[in-house]
Amino acid sequence: MGKPTGFKEFDRKKVAWRLPVVRINDYDEVYTEPNAKQLQEQGARCMDCGVPFCQSNSGCPIDNLIPEWNDLVYNDRWQEAIERLHKTNNFPEFTGRTCPAPCEGACVLGITNPPVTIKNIENAIVDRAWEEGWIKPEPPTMRTGKKVAIVGSGPAGLSAADQLNKAGHEVTVYERANRIGGLLQYGIPNMKLSKKVVQRRVDKMTTEGIKFVTGVNVGKDIDPKELVNDSDAVLLACGATKPRDLPIPNRDAKGVHFAMEFLAANTMQSVHADQIGDRFISAEGKDVIVIGGGDTGTDCIGTALRHGCRSLVNFELLPKPPAERGADNPWPEWPRIYRVDYGHEEAEAKFGRDPREYQILSKEFLVDDEGNLTGIKTVEVQWTKGDDGGWKMAEVEGSEKDWPAQLILLAMGFLGPEQYVADSLNIEVDPRSNFQAEHGRFATNVDGVFAAGDCRRGQSLVVWAINEGRGAARAIDIYLQGSSNLPAPGITLGTSLEIG
Ligand SMILES: Cc1cc2nc3c(=O)[nH]c(=O)nc-3n(C[C@H](O)[C@H](O)[C@H](O)COP(=O)(O)OP(=O)(O)OC[C@H]3O[C@@H](n4cnc5c(N)ncnc54)[C@H](O)[C@@H]3O)c2cc1C
Ligand code: SF4
Repeated sequence: MGKPTGFKEFDRKKVAWRLPVVRINDYDEVYTEPNAKQLQEQGARCMDCGVPFCQSNSGCPIDNLIPEWNDLVYNDRWQEAIERLHKTNNFPEFTGRTCPAPCEGACVLGITNPPVTIKNIENAIVDRAWEEGWIKPEPPTMRTGKKVAIVGSGPAGLSAADQLNKAGHEVTVYERANRIGGLLQYGIPNMKLSKKVVQRRVDKMTTEGIKFVTGVNVGKDIDPKELVNDSDAVLLACGATKPRDLPIPNRDAKGVHFAMEFLAANTMQSVHADQIGDRFISAEGKDVIVIGGGDTGTDCIGTALRHGCRSLVNFELLPKPPAERGADNPWPEWPRIYRVDYGHEEAEAKFGRDPREYQILSKEFLVDDEGNLTGIKTVEVQWTKGDDGGWKMAEVEGSEKDWPAQLILLAMGFLGPEQYVADSLNIEVDPRSNFQAEHGRFATNVDGVFAAGDCRRGQSLVVWAINEGRGAARAIDIYLQGSSNLPAPGITLGTSLEIG
């Protein structure tokens, strides 16, 4: 523990974001340069708890050694801090930018004070390490001669590839998109996670010997059985890419799109300058409505603002969360409270109000004679607890309203993986249509075929994808060699935090 009185001396202070009115004019990351002294003081707030809930139980899903690197940062030992961080996390620059930080929700200091700024410290350690040149390619010193094929290059596929390559296996990652990264590349926008930051890691992994094959759709361009026959093991890390639809009248209106169509096309054109023609969906000059909250909804808000939309509203079906933890949501659970994310802050700066409208049910898309979207009809809803303890939703009579809109984005979550790869290999699926494989073993019903990440657990978080990729790598290593020196990330219980 760096400074025994640190938690009494220093208040929580987060690394600031750039001003909303400035940052909505570009796609650069929202963060400002962190100040080393401020981060050291924040590290000093850590109490080095006897039971560090931040890294266990409902805290960090990859068991990050948080008190250890908090102490190293406080003591200005940044290079040792990155070594400690890399022991449990292949990609701290991804989680440091995108993670909702269940560790902070579980931090013991949070019982009486605002928690340690763990996520900021993690991000600063890894950014400094890249700047100082401490992160260098480290190809394995021996090769096992075993071949592993990975389908999907999101954080699950990438972390598994990194671990398996370290163990000396020959790894090839197949990705149907034109760039590597999964939702790190084409879901989460550049302002939250720069694509240069993603590419920098991919370049390092390429130098270390991992083969990346883009533009190849396994199950369409290659027979998955061929991959199984030509490899010693196959890992499916295909993500949960089936979006939840909104089957109300006029769903086929011109101007209603899934969030991912909007976000992916925006990254291709606005960030990478790809020529994608009419796949680009512009929000410029339009009244935009985003249906659904969560990170996907926030990302649609931030992107529509950068296009120069005329107005912006975000519908949420559920009530506004409380400002403080409820009695049914005690520490160390993830606090289900009202939060203002980057997109909400930007919308408020531009239009003078938070864009979120709560307890709104969409009833019908409104169209003109040519099928163009002109708006949406909604009704307010009330939530009450029924006799069985479950929540019941009822429409409020007379609360119907028509909202103008020329662009509506559906950000209501995902329903599991697409099934064509599983079908062609006869992979069993669970009742939610995810690929059936037990967490910890990650083996499917087909010998030598494993599954990890959102395609196995359902729509989740980057940090859980890394947990699963690391775990699956160890399971595959044991399958191939009989034993493994790769670490096993723990199974963090009690975390029900997922992303919409
Ligand atoms: C818009 C959005 C914002 C998000 N923001 C956050 C956030 O801020 N923080 C957070 O923690 N989580 C966030 N998430 C969730 C997080 O991104 C996912 O949980 C995580 O990326 C899942 O990782 P994965 O590797 O399992 O799958 P994915 O990242 O979905 O990657 C799967 C990859 O497999 C490829 N693929 C699928 N089938 C095939 C095939 N047959 N052949 C070849 N390739 C294939 C896909 O093209 C894709 O690239 C967000 C999700 C979305 C949609
Ligand atoms: S729970 Fe909070 S105070 Fe305790 S060790 Fe973890 S970060 Fe430090």
